Amino acid sequence: MAFSQRKIHEIFVHFIRARDYTETMKKKKKKQKGLRFLYASMAVFVAMLVCVLVLLVLNAKGGKSVRTVEVPVTPEPTATPTPRPTRSPIPVDVDYTAVHDTRVKVYIKETGELKEMYMEEYLIGVVAAEVPAAYRIEAIKAQAVAARCYTVRKLRHDGCATHPEANICTDSSCCQAYATEEEREAQWPEEYPYYFSVICKAVMETAGECMLVGGRPIDAMYHASSGGWTEDSENVYKNKYNYLRSVESPYEDDKYQNVTVTFTRREFTEKINAAYPDAKLTEKGLENEVQIESTFPSGRVESMRLGGTKQPGTKIKKTLKLYSALFTFEITDDEVIFHTKGYGHGVGMSQSGANGMAKQGATYRQILSHYYTGVKFGIIGRDFNIYDD
Ligand SMILES: [Zn+2]
Repeated sequence: MAFSQRKIHEIFVHFIRARDYTETMKKKKKKQKGLRFLYASMAVFVAMLVCVLVLLVLNAKGGKSVRTVEVPVTPEPTATPTPRPTRSPIPVDVDYTAVHDTRVKVYIKETGELKEMYMEEYLIGVVAAEVPAAYRIEAIKAQAVAARCYTVRKLRHDGCATHPEANICTDSSCCQAYATEEEREAQWPEEYPYYFSVICKAVMETAGECMLVGGRPIDAMYHASSGGWTEDSENVYKNKYNYLRSVESPYEDDKYQNVTVTFTRREFTEKINAAYPDAKLTEKGLENEVQIESTFPSGRVESMRLGGTKQPGTKIKKTLKLYSALFTFEITDDEVIFHTKGYGHGVGMSQSGANGMAKQGATYRQILSHYYTGVKFGIIGRDFNIYDD
């Protein structure tokens, strides 16, 4: 698959725009500074005028003794904090022989439009939406490869389930999250050019790269944070994949490692009874009616008994809107308290764990090989073709 210079140009037009953006921002800031000074001067002037008028009025009223009038103190114009030096875009080193011209039909949820994009162009939006741009570059590269794999699977198989005219959509609950250019600008108002270049680097320096098993691209599932151990695919979804095994994820340090969710006894009882009418929980009998029956080796709840019903941990997670199926609970006089670890389904790569590994010095391939058991790496059009069996 030949990769046209035009395509490269198109992608790097973003860079040029980013540079223009920096210039505009600088000008804007200068203008704002000037305006602030003007407003401050006007405020001082008006305050002085008011003082003079007050004094005149008091004197005119014939006050024999001139009372001291407390002059209102005009607040000093607050000093603008010195902005952090804006980082310049970082260089992107592209292996042009790895760049391909695969296109993806993307349904944009926000606008309802169907947009055809080059895969790498699309992935820039995905990666920007999926991981914080402040993550380590190797973790962002790992994310780029995982997202590319996920996209290739969509192209090879059915495409988006809710928008059949598209290969993939931007609804994260259906396909994959995606940040439009406007959203990316809003995300990094101060340092758009820098962060944009970071994302471009991650996507373009892994151009065309996918994880393969038996020469075929894998279903590279990923999640925000595992809470310590990822999960075997069949414990969450129906399919068992040998490359989606539970592995330890020791370097997570995100805010989801220990989250508490509290329900009143009534809230909990009502929620569960509404979702599972066979449960028939009673507010006063929860201690005897609710219990974790079994857990997977990862610690995630496999099955929970709720009165007259038994439900899998993954379903309880959804019903109670918990971050994770890795939870414990306690019942007090008034409340039912859940403690969860991690965020997401727990299958495949943990994004937070990937960043932790990158901090420890791991490369993106080491990160991916850790979370996806037994995978090899290959380039679209060179090592495999998307639509080949
Ligand atoms: Zn979709």
